[in-house]
Amino acid sequence: MIYREVRDHVVGHTCSARVVEEGGQVTELATDWLPVAIVRKPRETGDPIFEALTGVGADGPLDAKWLSEVPADQLLAGLQQLVTLYEKWIDARAEEGQVLSDPALRAQADLHVATCRAAAGRIRAGIALLGDDPQALEAFRLANRAMWLQDRWKKDRQGRRDGLIWRPFQLAFVLLTLCSASSGADPDRDVMDLLWFPTGGGKTEAYLLLTAHVIFLRRLRAAGGPEGAGVTVFMRYTLRLLTIQQFQRAAAVILACDLLRRSSNLAGAARLPAHFATDAQISIGLWVGAESVPNKLVEAIEALKRESLGDQPASNPRRLTRCPQCNGLLHWASNDAKTDLEVTCRSPGCTLAGAPLPVLTVDELIYDRLPALMIGTADKYAQLAREPKTGRLFGLGTNHAPPDLVIQDELHLISGPLGTISGLYEIAIDELCSHKGTRPKVIGSTATIRRAASQIRALYDRRAAQFPPLGLDQGNSGFAATDEADPGRLYVGVTTTGRSAKFALQAVMASLMQAAADTRIPAAQEDGYWTLVTYFNALRELGGALTLARDDVGRSIEQYARRRLQEPARALPPPVELTSRISASEINAILDRLDHPRGHADCVATVLASNMISVGVDVARLGVMVVNGQPKTIAEYIQATSRVGRAAVPGLVVAICNANKPRDRSRYESFHNWHRALYRDVEATGVTPFAERARERALHAAFVICARHLIPELRDSPSGALAVRGDLEAILDRILARARSVEQSPAETAGAEDELRTFLDLWVNRPDLTQYWDKWKNSLLTSAEEAQQQGRATGLLPRPTPNSLRSVEASTAFALRDYEM
Ligand SMILES: [Zn+2]
Repeated sequence: MIYREVRDHVVGHTCSARVVEEGGQVTELATDWLPVAIVRKPRETGDPIFEALTGVGADGPLDAKWLSEVPADQLLAGLQQLVTLYEKWIDARAEEGQVLSDPALRAQADLHVATCRAAAGRIRAGIALLGDDPQALEAFRLANRAMWLQDRWKKDRQGRRDGLIWRPFQLAFVLLTLCSASSGADPDRDVMDLLWFPTGGGKTEAYLLLTAHVIFLRRLRAAGGPEGAGVTVFMRYTLRLLTIQQFQRAAAVILACDLLRRSSNLAGAARLPAHFATDAQISIGLWVGAESVPNKLVEAIEALKRESLGDQPASNPRRLTRCPQCNGLLHWASNDAKTDLEVTCRSPGCTLAGAPLPVLTVDELIYDRLPALMIGTADKYAQLAREPKTGRLFGLGTNHAPPDLVIQDELHLISGPLGTISGLYEIAIDELCSHKGTRPKVIGSTATIRRAASQIRALYDRRAAQFPPLGLDQGNSGFAATDEADPGRLYVGVTTTGRSAKFALQAVMASLMQAAADTRIPAAQEDGYWTLVTYFNALRELGGALTLARDDVGRSIEQYARRRLQEPARALPPPVELTSRISASEINAILDRLDHPRGHADCVATVLASNMISVGVDVARLGVMVVNGQPKTIAEYIQATSRVGRAAVPGLVVAICNANKPRDRSRYESFHNWHRALYRDVEATGVTPFAERARERALHAAFVICARHLIPELRDSPSGALAVRGDLEAILDRILARARSVEQSPAETAGAEDELRTFLDLWVNRPDLTQYWDKWKNSLLTSAEEAQQQGRATGLLPRPTPNSLRSVEASTAFALRDYEM
């Protein structure tokens, strides 16, 4: 439907081919050696219809400060205006749909319009909640206030006066999810709302606003009672690098929330209840692996001590180094009794200075203090089987309520083996979150996904709703609309026909690099094409290219310089590498270097990158990329290439297609056409948590997690299983019910039942088991790596269990030594 304007009329053979259309008629077929295509970027402000909201200066319903200060009737009227404009946009689409000539398309258009109207209805319901429920209104005001405040801190330092203006999609998404995030009884509680917006765009701010709302609402409702505290929101990422970046961003919001909690003079129109002053702090926690942050307090203190002596420990608790308000260096130190780590700002005049900040990065402190917002990597959840205190994160063994909201960022990365194993752990997470009878609300975001519904059913056992829903054209969904004024990103295809792949690569690299030195490039743009990003879809090829980028590229640059009317050849410093082969701290150093502009002594000339660059790398000055060989998936191609041309200059992507590789060749031959509907060809991702291989690895782990955390007798030792067999059977039945709900295949459910019952029998008949996790025969589980080394069979106890969701495939360590041919 949305791609109906894009038809495939022609495909090249060895060359590339395209059609020329005029007024919907094909007037010409043409072949190309250098096919080009422009992919336009969406406007984050959406359809021009929403300009009516911003036309009145800074005030208005998109202004976070305004939302936190105006009386209720004005606030509600402002928000109504937003949804009314959206409904106008839908009405126009409905009319457009009526005049389509093809009846099948007309029916499809009706369906899209109906889905849009349902979304508009949910946004209206969110606004009605603010009108009817004074606590929801106060929480919404405070959340906007906190977002505005932390934005103000940053902009004050930059000398900017502009306020925090929401994009229509951000505010609409929060209103759409407001009812189901606020109430366990809402009919949409079971819907996973998926924020679909191309890379960048501001998804994080939208869910931070919702996070702040949920945290404040829970505390207002608890009226000072203990259920208001505890972990309220889980925010999850897949990659460690991104997790730490997002932690720093979210910390500013949480510190602003906590400052508001105790400062009625800052709170705008909201009136703070008296109990806020004595409530638990609103805190943030970072839950990641021991290779980034020590899990134990003594180790954390030791790391800080080593650092103070000039060492640079790779695992370091100091993951927030600067104060979000004043940007002064934060002071990290243990208290005198060595029972706590205190993070303090000591800048005179800073409103956050003085008392320790509610920032927790060490596991021991996290389990003890229970941050309101927990940011962690998805793989860390494997620890639920090992560590008894992790139950506290779900309110178990405390008098706090369980978490209300789970946010899964970059859902498309939870696919393949990682997604499949995650799906099993999600069973346990859902069970632990729901121990008081209410499931948590789950929201997520993605930039590229197809058939999200089946993935979300398999992972979370929930219905899926995409926001914004599709309109009638790929370029406009109301809240996201193609920006016709923006030049977009230019894609050029180069074939290796007639030359070797290596020759083509070095020639293209050299040509682009020397061309960037052209004196005719306007000064404002000369930095934008200076640093060349070369993307490789295999590490193997990247290794060979390191030498190529030093020697061959240098030679070719000199040749081209001579041919280009005696231009001076550009100097070529050594390339840098951005791949999983280098350490996290080196990656951070490279990311910092990439910000250095042309002329800076440390400016990067060329960076050779693997798919690591595709997620979370956001360097505004990068403008040009060579894609060496087509990535396996279109989703990866979109993610990788959207790293260039993000801000400073329009992006240029040169794709080198190897004529001897079928995938490269077919994409080259139809280059022009598939770029016109790039998102149409995104592949569906598969997640099969109940498949045999996955069950064998981790199904029992999900079962053990539920058992030890939900049955108090089993919390510390697996020995008393026989006495609580009935409770164990009940958990087993719930897991099987979920298997039936998410799986298409009855054979898989039957297999799951067999395996779980066998495991349960083994367990209850072993009263001698005293440990949950160890390598000895008196333990129930053991690490999968260790079991493999010992050649232990999977059918016996202790049962091999993943230590992390990251290493989902067994691997072999080997070292490759350089040698001369
Ligand atoms: Zn400060």
